[in-house]
Amino acid sequence: MDGGAHSEAAGKNAGATDGSRATAIQSASRLIAIVGALGASALLLAAALGYGLARASDERAAAQQRALVRAQLHVRRIDEFDAHVASAITQITGLQGLKFETDPAGPAQSMQPVLNGEGRILGFLTWNEEQPMTRLVTKLLPLIAVLITGLVGFATFSAWRLRRLREEPAIAHVHAKIPHLPIPTAITDDEQFIRRELPQALGGGEMHLHYQPIVSAQGARIVGVEALLRWTHPHRGAIGPAAFIPVAERMGLIDQLGAFVLRRALEQARQWPELYMAVNLSPLQVRDRAIIELVRDTLAETGVQPSPLMLEITEGVLIDNPDEMLDRIADLHDLGVRIALDDFGSGYSSLGYLQRFPIDKLKIDRGFIAALGRESNGGVIVHAITALGRALGISVLAEGVETEEQRVLLRLAGCSEMQGYLFGRPGPASTIDRLISEDEVASEAARVGRAPMRALTA
Ligand code: C2E
Ligand code: CA
Ligand code: CA
Repeated sequence: MDGGAHSEAAGKNAGATDGSRATAIQSASRLIAIVGALGASALLLAAALGYGLARASDERAAAQQRALVRAQLHVRRIDEFDAHVASAITQITGLQGLKFETDPAGPAQSMQPVLNGEGRILGFLTWNEEQPMTRLVTKLLPLIAVLITGLVGFATFSAWRLRRLREEPAIAHVHAKIPHLPIPTAITDDEQFIRRELPQALGGGEMHLHYQPIVSAQGARIVGVEALLRWTHPHRGAIGPAAFIPVAERMGLIDQLGAFVLRRALEQARQWPELYMAVNLSPLQVRDRAIIELVRDTLAETGVQPSPLMLEITEGVLIDNPDEMLDRIADLHDLGVRIALDDFGSGYSSLGYLQRFPIDKLKIDRGFIAALGRESNGGVIVHAITALGRALGISVLAEGVETEEQRVLLRLAGCSEMQGYLFGRPGPASTIDRLISEDEVASEAARVGRAPMRALTA
């Protein structure tokens, strides 16, 4: 076994140990949460029951005492009540603070009317009503409250910890693939909403693709489309990919989402044999060797040739592990698909990559296009990139073209293709169908010598 294999095996062992430790912690947290919640409920129930029983017991005792007093009064013929009678009754009943009052102010249940032989009320015997059981339980209540609070806190903490443990593997998985990705700290409400809703959005048919036309700089004819993922939530409406794709990456859902996009895009590509189909790949997808199989299988299953498929990757992908990425991109290229470098110029932009990697297209980041005609040196970078593309035999596409002025300047700079709101916003497949038929009408008009009908035809 060589050093690499050793460290791989050690890594696997460490992974297995970490995995079983995490499972043990998860089971313990689940148990603590359940025991805590059950314990708190049982204590609450016991306290309520105990208090009820204590009150009932005290009331029974008080009723017996009253009956005893009544019996004592009954056996004596009382015309005048004096201290002797009171102390005799006290001795027999054992009641505390028994005394005779003509106008008592105490509670009704701890007194008994004293009648003479003619049934006239002479006064009342009153005493201190004892509630020993209720007092005892009442004394215990603060202790029970502290116990319940402690158990509820414990259960809540364990439930929170359990949730963190469930999320951690997905986060760790993503960070193993992209080491420089910042560790998410506080999760915003929007992200929480996306986390909750995203898993069922795919199965629930809430995801679909829009297509944005890509036109040739020469004739402004549509030559391809870029597939862009759209999520229409039943209550929130449209949620942009810039918001939910990073969350899908952090949740470990990007492979599933990426596979859906690729399949839908290729199914649609069958309807447009004259166009190429650009599909965005997340850096996480490219870092995973499984992407090769996914692309190969999806092409085979949809019956689409590889050449119309253009996979868009960003420069960041090439940075972390250039050797592995070189193999990956070369393997993808060997399938017969083409590779475009998206948002070119916005990232780390090492020109060395362009020579090493089999790149077919550079997509100039729309930030540089926006500067065209607005800043005095706005065209410098665009000119540099198109010159570079020409020298290396890589076609150059300008993204985010919004004005006629930008279109003219980009054509002069030597861009071969353009994409942007000027030519069409991303829309459903029907908008591309319309553009294709307009192009057909325009070229037929050109063939028979009539003026072209498309306003954008240069
Ligand atoms: P991107 O790949 O750079 O896609 C181009 C974005 O620019 C799209 O935004 C598009 O609507 C917008 N755009 C196009 N023309 C213009 C223009 O003339 N002016 C302006 N201001 N914007 C223009 P969108 O659809 O919101 O997508 C945002 C990003 O989300 C994409 O940037 C891409 O990185 C990501 N994305 C979209 N769909 C997918 C997907 O299926 N998979 C992956 N991994 N990422 C995707
Ligand atoms: Ca793109
Ligand atoms: Ca882009």
